[in-house]
Amino acid sequence: AKNRGKNTFQFYTADMNASAMARLKLEYSLHRALARDEFQVWYQPKVDLASGTLVGMEALIRWQHPEMGFIPPMEFIPVAEECALIVPIGAWVLQEACRQTRLWAEQCGFGGRVAVNLSARQIKFGNIVGTVAQVLQQTGLPPSQLELEITESTAMDSDGEVMKALEGLRAMGITLAIDDFGTGYSSLAYLKRLPVQVLKIDRSFIKDLDRDKDDAAIASAVISLGRSLGLSVVAEGVETPAHRAFLIEQGCHQAQGYLFGKPQTAADFRYLLC
Ligand code: C2E
Ligand code: CA
Ligand code: CA
Ligand code: CA
Repeated sequence: AKNRGKNTFQFYTADMNASAMARLKLEYSLHRALARDEFQVWYQPKVDLASGTLVGMEALIRWQHPEMGFIPPMEFIPVAEECALIVPIGAWVLQEACRQTRLWAEQCGFGGRVAVNLSARQIKFGNIVGTVAQVLQQTGLPPSQLELEITESTAMDSDGEVMKALEGLRAMGITLAIDDFGTGYSSLAYLKRLPVQVLKIDRSFIKDLDRDKDDAAIASAVISLGRSLGLSVVAEGVETPAHRAFLIEQGCHQAQGYLFGKPQTAADFRYLLC
C-alpha cells in the first residue's frame, strides 16, 4: 500500500507490540534531543604505545534522557541511522568536538587530533565534505587536528560516492581511519586504494588476546598488514598491561582503552591536557 512510512497511523494500533512501541518512543525522543540539548560529547585518550604519551582522543556521544536516564550509543545510534537523524546529530558531534579541541589548542597548547565517528549515511547523504569544511571554518580548527573514523563496512561500500567523499576529505588534509577493522570483509586491493592513514583494530580481537591464540594471530596480522601498507595502527579496548606488552612487541603504534583512560566529560578530560 501507498504511504506506509514509519510515521503513518498504521503504527498506532492496539496490537502494536511492546518493542515496536519502545522503539517509536525512542525515535520520538531522539527528534527532541538535539533541540533540548540532551547530548554531550565525551573524550577518550589515545596514547602512543612506545612512549605512553597522549596523542589525541576519540569523541564519543552521550545521551542523558530526562526520564529514561543515560542511554548508551549502541542503543540509539542504530535508530538514528535508520531514521536519518544521524545526519544532524553527527554534524552536531563534529561541530562540538572541533569547537572543544580548538579551545584546548588555544588554552593548553594541545596539538593532537580529535577523532570523530562518521556513519555511512552522513557520507552518502549528508554532504560530508561541505559540512566538514564549514565546521573547520567556523571553529578555526586546522584540518591536521581532525581525524574521521569510518567503519570497515562503510569504507568497503563499493559505491563510488563513498570513495569520492573520502578523497575530498583527504584532499582537505583530514586524517581518515578505518574503525572496527577485522570485523568486515575487506578486499585488500580495495584497502590499498582507500585514502586512509589509520587502521583501528576492533576491541573483539584485543579482549582475549592472552587466552585466545586466534585473536592474537588476527591482531598481529592486522598490525603487520597496516605497517606494510604504511598505515598507523591503533588498538582499541586495551585493558591490561598484558595487552599493552603484546601490542608493543607486535609493533602497534597507538592504543585506546580503559588501561589508559575511559571516556570522560570535557571538563575532566581537560586535566589531561592543561
Ligand atoms: P567505537 O567507535 O568502536 O568506540 C569505542 C567504544 O569502545 C566506545 O563505546 C568506548 O567507550 C568503548 N571502549 C573504549 N575502550 C574500552 C575498553 O578498554 N573496554 C571496553 N569494554 N570498552 C571500551 P561507546 O562510547 O559506548 O560507543 C559505542 C559505539 O557507538 C562506538 O563504537 C561507535 O560505533 C558508536 N558511536 C559513539 N559515538 C558516536 C558518534 O558520535 N557518531 C557515531 N556515528 N557513532 C558513535
Ligand atoms: Ca570509533
Ligand atoms: Ca572502534
Ligand atoms: Ca568497536
